[in-house]
Amino acid sequence: LHEDIASPKRTNDVLKRHGIKLKKSLGQNFLIDQNVLNRIVGAAELDESKGAIEIGPGIGALTQQLAKQAGRVVAIEIDQRLLPILEETLEPYPNAAVVHGDVLQVDMKQLFAERFAGVSGVSVVANLPYYITTPIIMKLLEDRLPLENIVVMIQKEVAERMAAKPGGKDYGSLSIAVQYYCEPELVTIVPHTVFIPQPNVDSAVIRLKVRKEPPVQTVDEAFFFDVVQASFVQRRKTIYNNLAARYFSKENKAELETVLHSCGIEPSRRGETLSMAEYALLSDALHAHLR
Ligand code: SAM
Repeated sequence: LHEDIASPKRTNDVLKRHGIKLKKSLGQNFLIDQNVLNRIVGAAELDESKGAIEIGPGIGALTQQLAKQAGRVVAIEIDQRLLPILEETLEPYPNAAVVHGDVLQVDMKQLFAERFAGVSGVSVVANLPYYITTPIIMKLLEDRLPLENIVVMIQKEVAERMAAKPGGKDYGSLSIAVQYYCEPELVTIVPHTVFIPQPNVDSAVIRLKVRKEPPVQTVDEAFFFDVVQASFVQRRKTIYNNLAARYFSKENKAELETVLHSCGIEPSRRGETLSMAEYALLSDALHAHLR
């Protein structure tokens, strides 16, 4: 009964017995490698006092390991066809519950209040459906949920962008958004062969340690993110050209040069060379100038 779910044989058997064909449109690539599962669960640093939220349990391969480590597990699955399977595979784990729904629609604050009262910390741990990786992570972060860690398997390219430092081609608005809320750490790169069916992209496990406080303070957080986004609209253009296009007219755009210089930022630099601290300084200076 407690046998590992994540073997090729058990996965294929279960799917066959329930007559299920996996859906590409739902990002259904199931893990069949116990070592990879152990790496994911290990990175979340769970124990009996902690809770875990899983997004997309599939047939329960990861859920099972989470239930063994954490005190309480809530798994959100959109595909109704998988619910009877999960009932069967998770039967030995009364501390694991399945919620049927679309993670992007679920009221996470309410889920926290209802399911995780009294636990000492909650992590999100998942092998994410790749078609909505970024929206899921941004929702978790922007909701400002009291999470400790987010440990997720995602596309390797997206993981590299999330963890990128200034100066390279991977660094962009996603890097800054994620690093504003978290400290990212690449846990491991994962080959295609550990999934059924195998995805077309390389995968990686990333750990996002959620910060208590953002690393920079700004007068207007939404404006800070707007400035960052504007700075990468055309990656090949200078910071001056991108910001002039967003915030200035032909008549007054010379003022932007003064603002940039007042922050010690050369107008000829590209957005990808600015640190988060420089974006914070710049967005506050622009804010004061424009409003
Ligand atoms: N956890 C399983 C594993 O590791 O083998 C399955 C992972 S599979 C990559 C992604 C899972 O997310 C699938 O079970 C899919 O049905 C589910 N899913 C897709 N979109 C979803 C959504 N919007 N909300 C919740 N679950 C979703």
